[in-house]
Amino acid sequence: MVPRWVRWMLLSAFFGLAPSIRSKHPPGVSLGRSFLPRAVAFNTEGRFQRGAPPSEATPHGASMVPIYRGMSLVSETATGELEPVLLSSEQVQMGEASWLGTAEESSALAELQRKASHRLGSGFWMLDVSNCFDQAPSLSDLGLREDFNASPSVSSTSAQWHKLRSRAGASVVDRLASEDYAALLAVAAGMSAWHRSVRFCATCGAPTEAVRSGLQRQCCQCGSRFRPRVDPAMLVLVTDGDRCLLGRKASWPAGRFSALAGFVEFGETLEECVIREVREESGVLVDPKSICFVASQPWLFPRSLLLGFTAKPVSTEIKLTEELEDVKWFEADYIEACLAEADDIDASDTRFNIPSRTSLANSLIHGWLQSIRAQK
Ligand SMILES: [Zn+2]
Repeated sequence: MVPRWVRWMLLSAFFGLAPSIRSKHPPGVSLGRSFLPRAVAFNTEGRFQRGAPPSEATPHGASMVPIYRGMSLVSETATGELEPVLLSSEQVQMGEASWLGTAEESSALAELQRKASHRLGSGFWMLDVSNCFDQAPSLSDLGLREDFNASPSVSSTSAQWHKLRSRAGASVVDRLASEDYAALLAVAAGMSAWHRSVRFCATCGAPTEAVRSGLQRQCCQCGSRFRPRVDPAMLVLVTDGDRCLLGRKASWPAGRFSALAGFVEFGETLEECVIREVREESGVLVDPKSICFVASQPWLFPRSLLLGFTAKPVSTEIKLTEELEDVKWFEADYIEACLAEADDIDASDTRFNIPSRTSLANSLIHGWLQSIRAQK
């Protein structure tokens, strides 16, 4: 059952009952919370907290999230879902560690720590073991017993290294048993990718080293400091009554369409970015007053922050440019019918499909479909 305030927000946003989703918040809903009818992956709503690192490096009982050359270590549960494999700060005397955060509010992550016999609430670190092994290390290479996991439902052979994302079909992120697992693994993989990208100083070219519990890197020669940065990118679902504007890139899996998107240019506001990207990618002109912020999603592949909007057009004629392979207006009924049979879509399928359920685009499209259904 969709909460009443969610229906109110969706109806208001899509049918102009309120001026803007930005300025109208129903009682009890704080700014910054998702307005979507379903959770967006990587959004832990504060259960997984970043923040200042502990004063001592990798304190006793801390949980390490291992990364090997961009891959995460996951194991399969009895229900076929995936969960992260954690190492303990006592077991592992190798690799480069970076502070990730604490998760005292997360029952899923606390359970993971409890099963691994780690100290609850002692925090999570990324541990990059890429330079320690020529090929992906086994559990015993990492100092883990074969029965590393206290859960009898997990067999030791089910722990494997995987990239979190795959181009088509269900990826590791889609199969994780908890949103909090997705957030933990994504921020660990993103942190590892950032460290690898800042090996040398942008000012003088000398090598850098990790400082401040791995939250920064510092040049060994001139002392310049570097911190992880995110690239803001916007995603917009342009809707016109019962239809919405979706596009596809030539490089995407066959049949894949999504909301229009683009990186924010230097010196540009988010609203200007929405207007420019929609015009560049489709020729459609957006009504600036109709632009509404809906939700955000960290997309650390490698380091974006997606900002999701809805908007309405002032002109609907499509002029295709070289940016996208195709852009079309899609009727809600057509999308609903396609998605109803989309569960069995795999990488080789060419039927219409949208990004996976862990994406912000998927949430924007489903939120809009829900508002259309609510009106009928
Ligand atoms: Zn330097």
